[in-house]
Amino acid sequence: MLFSDIIGQEEVKEQLRKQLREERVAHAQLFYGPEGVGKMPMALAFAQALLCPHRKGAEADATCPACRMVANLQHPDLHFVFPVIGAKDVSDQHIDAWRAMWKDSPYFDAQRWYRQLSEEGGKSSEGNQQPQIHVSESEQILRKISLTSQQGGYKVMIIWQPEQMNVQTANKLLKILEEPTPRTVFILVSDHAERLLPTILSRTQRVEFRPLSVAEMSEALQTRNALQSADASRIARQVGGNYVRALRQIHIDEDAEEFFDLFVQLMRLCYMRKIKDLYQWAETIASWKRERQKHFLEYCQRLVRENFVFNFGRPELNSLSQREADFSRNFARFVNERNVMGIMNELSLAQRDIAQNVSARMVFFDLAIKMIMLLLK
Ligand SMILES: [Zn+2]
Repeated sequence: MLFSDIIGQEEVKEQLRKQLREERVAHAQLFYGPEGVGKMPMALAFAQALLCPHRKGAEADATCPACRMVANLQHPDLHFVFPVIGAKDVSDQHIDAWRAMWKDSPYFDAQRWYRQLSEEGGKSSEGNQQPQIHVSESEQILRKISLTSQQGGYKVMIIWQPEQMNVQTANKLLKILEEPTPRTVFILVSDHAERLLPTILSRTQRVEFRPLSVAEMSEALQTRNALQSADASRIARQVGGNYVRALRQIHIDEDAEEFFDLFVQLMRLCYMRKIKDLYQWAETIASWKRERQKHFLEYCQRLVRENFVFNFGRPELNSLSQREADFSRNFARFVNERNVMGIMNELSLAQRDIAQNVSARMVFFDLAIKMIMLLLK
């Protein structure tokens, strides 16, 4: 990760580059600011610059073995600490899940990490527990810091969400933050610095991150995510400078496209009474996760409502995308005052059944059959 890989945050980059150029690196730094603005990618870029033996000024060369190890989160002098669930667990036990999440995107938030943790742990009931940085972790940190660096340069310890440390854990770290071993750099990365203990705050140099501007966001969405400029600026305006939210929004938009196709397919197949194809249709949706099935049913309810309203010829009452509106011009007349309540009712019953773990194939096939009858009304 290089500074140039990070969206915006020019002031922060300059602040960090200055430290590197002047070889005056603060040994305990607090990267703080809202979620999804690039604090963790920046921490990694900074770590890479510190650990690269071929650094020129402030820039790592990106190609040497040390840089490659940092990029894979496998450099022996780069350590990560992050919240985990089991009370005796330490970060290293979950490092594979951590690496997998980074590989997916270096921009992530707590919600994303908790999902990764719960996927790693299977469908355990532990999902309701709040992940924490436990006391056992502080012992690990002290041990790692006491080792001499394996590559003969800096040691970097990135602590993500230090606000998830309890007092006991935090107290154990105070001394090392105050009098660190030579060439050790702590980077604390926090979304909620206001929750940190004053004793921790006072021992760190603060580096403030701000939300990304609409222009920065829009450009990133076009160059990194290949969005058209209209879509990019629409999303950029919706997400309050949070790139992780923007990534989530792209995902929702993609879902909506697929949901739309399946809704259209359902209505066509019902109209033509293609029972065998409807069974296939049900199977497709049955192969999804339950959560997505529920979202699809919510989407269907929205579209039915929109089509019913479409018949009143008051476009200002509709909020349809272009594709949806094109479809509604022909389809809306099939949703009328005789069947709209029935259709909505079947969709919400299906939703209830899915929530109660009834066989999804049965639920969706049953829904399709009832839809044939309802569309006749
Ligand atoms: Zn390098």
